[in-house]
Amino acid sequence: MNILMVAAECVPFVKTGGLADVVGTLPKYLKQRGHDVRIIIPKYRQIDGAKFGLEALPCKLSVFVGKEQENFRIKTCMLDGNIPVYFIENLRYFNRPGVYGDSSGIGYGDNRERFIFFCKAAVEAVKALMFRPDIIHCHDWHTGLIPAYLKTVNLCDGFFWNTSSVYTIHNIAFQGSFEAASTLPMAGFSWEDYKSDKLEFYNTFNFMKAGLAYTDIISTVSPTYANEIQGPAGKGMEVVLQTRKKDVFGILNGIDYSYWNPRYDRNLAANFYAKDKSGKKFCKKYLQEKCGFKVDDKAFLLSVVSRFDMQKGFDLIIDSVGNLVKENIQIVVLGSGDRYIKDTMLYLKSLYSDKLAVFTDYNEPLSHRIYAGADAFLMPSKFEPCGLSQIIALAYGTVPIVNKTGGLSDTIEDFSTNTLKGNGFVFDFYKGESFEYTVRRAYDIFKNSFLWNRLTDNAFASRFSWDNSVQEYEKMYDTAAARKIKDNIYNKNI
Ligand code: ADP
Repeated sequence: MNILMVAAECVPFVKTGGLADVVGTLPKYLKQRGHDVRIIIPKYRQIDGAKFGLEALPCKLSVFVGKEQENFRIKTCMLDGNIPVYFIENLRYFNRPGVYGDSSGIGYGDNRERFIFFCKAAVEAVKALMFRPDIIHCHDWHTGLIPAYLKTVNLCDGFFWNTSSVYTIHNIAFQGSFEAASTLPMAGFSWEDYKSDKLEFYNTFNFMKAGLAYTDIISTVSPTYANEIQGPAGKGMEVVLQTRKKDVFGILNGIDYSYWNPRYDRNLAANFYAKDKSGKKFCKKYLQEKCGFKVDDKAFLLSVVSRFDMQKGFDLIIDSVGNLVKENIQIVVLGSGDRYIKDTMLYLKSLYSDKLAVFTDYNEPLSHRIYAGADAFLMPSKFEPCGLSQIIALAYGTVPIVNKTGGLSDTIEDFSTNTLKGNGFVFDFYKGESFEYTVRRAYDIFKNSFLWNRLTDNAFASRFSWDNSVQEYEKMYDTAAARKIKDNIYNKNI
């Protein structure tokens, strides 16, 4: 199949969270299975053109955002030597310090215009490139207008005659909801489109609803989250999802084990793997030194690598730090985003600097050292579509402590001292007491080296690879393509 991925982020070029990991990794597995996969993302200032060898294509293109004609260029390079990546370059919208907003975590005031532009430009770019996709796979709210354009503005465009769309929800909490009266003409939709109940959401214009309502197939990133968002966790979209129940797929994300591999990871003080874990002790020592903690193998070293967002359970972490550090427990936190969480964590650090270390930047190498050096990984998320961090922690033999929600339920099984099964610790009541109790339970098991050894063996043995998920994606693409062909046969689309 010809598959086009369109997204706001993609590793290794630009990343703020798990979306980038998925968009940069899934194509490699699709390519291995013989598909022609290509990727379109914005050309942000952060993307280092020289480092990645970006070349500008000779075409100059433009689209309208409202009445403004916006010019853009396409730059390109290869991912892994065989997957073309196209970057939409427009200096006005993408040449700024942040991806979605400034360093305080507040989104740019014109994100609506930026992603209307990006959706329109992606549709124009694929035509200019003469790449006829069987599937346009759109990710999250930033690309929600693309399925809508295919079924409205571009409905009679022969170029997309055999193109189906798939829309993946990575996080239903970010929907892109804007004032309707000005957004409709800016995005190029008519009042009739709006009245069709496919764009409107509580009197606003909603990008995600556009994606969900117009796309051929909907997916999200874990089976449990796919069920949860058809109920109260749907943040208002549950009704739309229930009406499309048979089109909703839940496919678990994987990680790239060639990248997240403690045996060969060059960021680490020492390498290790399941059968020889000795290097992990050096990594722990390195991390304790880096954090200014007492170097003590018996200290229970907890870690967090996360966006600073209340979704991730920071209220529970903040409430329990004071109690936990009274034990021989050390905590290292790496995160960026919400200013309130950042300031609170830094304040706590000033109180407990010998037991709590806080790093407030986006730091990929340090994240590797934390995954490798810590004993356990805290991820008490209030909700979690899939979560990659807990899967990465497992790969480094670091035991996740999680709330039972979304993809965390699908990947982490509570450790049982009777059966010795389980790869982490799970609590299922979102309260500080439950979280703290579970950390203490983990600490008790940590003190028993036989049990902890079994548990870390189980963690290393847990594999969430793309090899399984990619086949489910293929089945989903087949379903989307079959639907399009049927629609064309019955002339529904013209
Ligand atoms: P989400 O996509 O909701 O942010 P995921 O768990 O799916 O959460 O993915 C988070 C990804 O971002 C992981 O690869 C994690 O290591 C990485 N990450 C998050 N914050 C940071 C940070 N401050 N520095 C480095 N990597 C980070």
